[in-house]
Amino acid sequence: MNYEQLFDAFDKEHLWHPYTSVSEPLPTYKVKSAEGCIITLADGTRLVDGMSSWWCAVHGYNHPALNEALRRQSEQMAHVMFGGLTHEPAIALGKRLLALAPPSMQKIFYADSGSVAVEVALKMAVQYHYAKGHPGRSNFVTIRSGYHGDTWNAMSVCDPVTGMHGLFGPALPVRYFAPSPSSRFGGEWNEEDIRPLREMIEKHHDELAGLILEPVVQGAGGMRFYHPHYLVEAAKLCRAYGILLIFDEIATGFGRTGKLFAWEHAGVEPDIMCIGKALTGGYMTFSAVMTTDNVGQVISGAYPYAFMHGPTFMGNPLACAVACASIDLLLSYDWKEKVRKIEAQLRRELHPARAFSQVADVRVLGAIGVIEMKSLVNLAWIQRRFVEEGVWIRPFGRLVYIMPPFVISEKELTFLTNALLKVVSETNKNAENHE
Ligand SMILES: *Cc1c(COP(=O)(O)O)cnc(C)c1O
Repeated sequence: MNYEQLFDAFDKEHLWHPYTSVSEPLPTYKVKSAEGCIITLADGTRLVDGMSSWWCAVHGYNHPALNEALRRQSEQMAHVMFGGLTHEPAIALGKRLLALAPPSMQKIFYADSGSVAVEVALKMAVQYHYAKGHPGRSNFVTIRSGYHGDTWNAMSVCDPVTGMHGLFGPALPVRYFAPSPSSRFGGEWNEEDIRPLREMIEKHHDELAGLILEPVVQGAGGMRFYHPHYLVEAAKLCRAYGILLIFDEIATGFGRTGKLFAWEHAGVEPDIMCIGKALTGGYMTFSAVMTTDNVGQVISGAYPYAFMHGPTFMGNPLACAVACASIDLLLSYDWKEKVRKIEAQLRRELHPARAFSQVADVRVLGAIGVIEMKSLVNLAWIQRRFVEEGVWIRPFGRLVYIMPPFVISEKELTFLTNALLKVVSETNKNAENHE
């Protein structure tokens, strides 16, 4: 490897990267190009991608159909404002989303990113109760180990520890947190799991606008897979107390968990649903908030007779066009069978890690494979080892996980899991690298 080419001096001096120091940053590897499941670094090193660029690139990189959609749309118009104007890509995407989402989702709000979708969903819930004459119902309840984004209110419903609530302290609105369910996906349902949420809702429903959760799979807050029956019970409580149920499907959407959307595992429809990440197949930032006719009508039926949000790049035509192409591509092949195959292979190939003394847990759901370590991993060390082994895997905390593009071949996936097991097995020998 040519470290001179891999690490850019300007980047190191001036560019802020996610969750790292700007004065002593963790190394950032320079990428030249990416195609299919291969990321090519500036020195020519080829890495098999295990991250789908944070859940997004389900079709892999540099896909001809998505490139073509982007090129064609850019020759019509890259953008026009959505206030007072509309266009075919926005309409075509809306029709596709209606066909894929829970049937009760009938109104669509396009937003800029996952975090903004969460902000919009929370505002919708507050404005809904305001329109109903209950302005006091403006707070939220959620479960621990969640992740909903990095903007202000999205952050306020993230896990208080991993979401850094202590750091932002009194600047952050204070939410209600129930423990995250202990019943695992695929295991027994424990009745006790719902009790803390029930007690919280019984006590505080007068203040609550909504319950927000990631259905079944909690992503960046802990990579946990919980029992779908929790959603059935949570929905009953929400209905009984007039609390809006908000599903954050930004990470789980578009097939990642083995269902097109994770709500299908429970058969529970939300009142509001956020989607993002894989929506554009990993091409650009874009998201959507979907809701029921009822929520739309209530908000529009009272002062100020409109939903009060309208981003500059709302309904961006380039993003809509790529999203349409990405959805068409997903539905053009048997993605379900492909995800099932990835799941079976992950189960088989990650299983040996259970025997490692440094591993606390191994879990797989859909195209997500997680190895939970007993102690924190040293990110700089493990990242370098993964690159040396020819794979791109980016752990956080005690979690070393992969969620490859769906187009990954059996051989590429084996390459990925072999490297994963090899590097994880080395962590004991490198105890001094542990924090
Ligand atoms: C990534 C993520 C978000 C935030 O999306 P951004 O596009 O990064 O703002 C919100 N919710 C969940 C569940 C996510 O995984």
